[in-house]
Amino acid sequence: MKIAVIAHDGKKADMVAFVMKRLEFFRQVEVIATGTTGKHIEHAGLKVQCLKSGPLGGDAQIASMIADGEISGVVFFIDPLEVHPHQVDVNMLLRICNVYNTPLATNYMTASYIISGLEKKFKENSNS
Ligand code: PGA
Repeated sequence: MKIAVIAHDGKKADMVAFVMKRLEFFRQVEVIATGTTGKHIEHAGLKVQCLKSGPLGGDAQIASMIADGEISGVVFFIDPLEVHPHQVDVNMLLRICNVYNTPLATNYMTASYIISGLEKKFKENSNS
């Protein structure tokens, strides 16, 4: 199972906290991240496949993986209080998640529900 994680700068600390709280699960799956988010998570001790930084095409790379059917869920902590130079890429990624019916969380609370669901699915698949 591959899970994509992305956090805007104002939300990176929240993302590290989110992943660390669920470390046992995230250790068992493949974690894909945009460049800077991935580095933060790596420093916290988890193996991550880091793509390009979001503004340099990382969001677009994740969208491409979703279109190829590779991603089981996306946790994207958006900072609604900042302006982002790559807003078109952000919108494109959100749209692609909807095109491919891919679970997508854009805030901490929704992400905790989605990850619980993916964890359940992961356990069922491992037992079958
Ligand atoms: P980053 O990109 O992880 O490289 O900071 C995130 C984003 O802003 O899309």
